[in-house]
Amino acid sequence: MQDWLFLLLPVAAASGWFAAKNHYIQKGRGDPGQEFRQAYCRGLNYLLSEKTDKAIDTFASLLESDRETIETHIALGNLFRRRGDLERAIEIHENLIQKGVLDTEQRALAQYELGLDYLRSGLFDRAEIIFGNLIDHPGRGRAALQQLLAIFQHEKEWQKAIECTRKLARLGKLPHGESVAQFLCELAEEALAAHRNEEAFQWLEQARAEDTGCVRANLLLARMRMRDGLYEEALLALKQVEAQDPAYIQEILEPLQICYERLNKSPAELMGYLGYVYETYGLESAALALARQLRTERGNGRAIEHLQRVLEAHPSLKTLNAMTGLLLEEKNGAQREALIRLDRAIDRLCAGAVRYRCSHCGFSGNELHWRCPSCRHWVAMRPVTAGRSGSASGFQ
Ligand SMILES: [Zn+2]
Repeated sequence: MQDWLFLLLPVAAASGWFAAKNHYIQKGRGDPGQEFRQAYCRGLNYLLSEKTDKAIDTFASLLESDRETIETHIALGNLFRRRGDLERAIEIHENLIQKGVLDTEQRALAQYELGLDYLRSGLFDRAEIIFGNLIDHPGRGRAALQQLLAIFQHEKEWQKAIECTRKLARLGKLPHGESVAQFLCELAEEALAAHRNEEAFQWLEQARAEDTGCVRANLLLARMRMRDGLYEEALLALKQVEAQDPAYIQEILEPLQICYERLNKSPAELMGYLGYVYETYGLESAALALARQLRTERGNGRAIEHLQRVLEAHPSLKTLNAMTGLLLEEKNGAQREALIRLDRAIDRLCAGAVRYRCSHCGFSGNELHWRCPSCRHWVAMRPVTAGRSGSASGFQ
């Protein structure tokens, strides 16, 4: 990665040499000394001829004689890391720390960089210990906490991630939209997968208390209640989503229909709700769900009438697709053949549509991820819905 940075090594080393030289001058020694200069040149030569072990030894011996070269050594280790030579980066940073000649600030800096070396090497346990030791450091504490948070999320250690998030939240905005409620939902998902329902319920209650706008907690709660046959409670959780974030209404329509059916509720009540959602938000998915319900309850004719009105108000491919499907059930003869061709063409156009898009990096897909697989931001992937304008939007 960034190979050109390696070209800066001599510059970094030279800056150390000048710092050392000034240091000697300030101390009244007049000249940095032939021996010192020769040692630095020797170190650089080793470096340029890729004899890095010898270069490190040479620079390390200079380090013992002059503290002002320390930051140059730290930078040297960083350059090795950026170049992907993690072993050497670790060797330099570890060596610096073990020398015991660093002041508090230099030690914290070297430790932080060593933590990054470990992280890049996949040595998460070691990185966790290093960053854990830095969290109370006034200059490095926040950065160390951010690194720890990344480690805990990678390792799916959600309770530790929660502690970390609380501490970071007190220091300001979280870097990737991390939130305690999302981590509680992760814990609930784990408990649900293991059929530990009571535990899952407790996590979800905490998530809902932590963030009253947490759509995911209500969707999970509804899924859990439906699995237990508690459809009335599931319905209650589903209907809260609208007030939380209307962009996610399309996520509740299918489970909502199942709950209405299982509870033997009046189809008119469900159609009333779907009609309300469509009228309020102009949501294509609500219009299509209503068309399906009308077809079942009142026949094709009513469903077609409804879709005609939807197409006039909010034309979209999916609505057109639903319309051709209904018309196919009606038509015969030559017109039917033409209609089949039209239906297939619209099918192909619809196949390329995506359901979700990340509002942060633009990643898109057909599965709802609560953490974007591309940029790793939480709750950034939003449903792509055809709303009032008839165009795709994420209710931003
Ligand atoms: Zn993203």
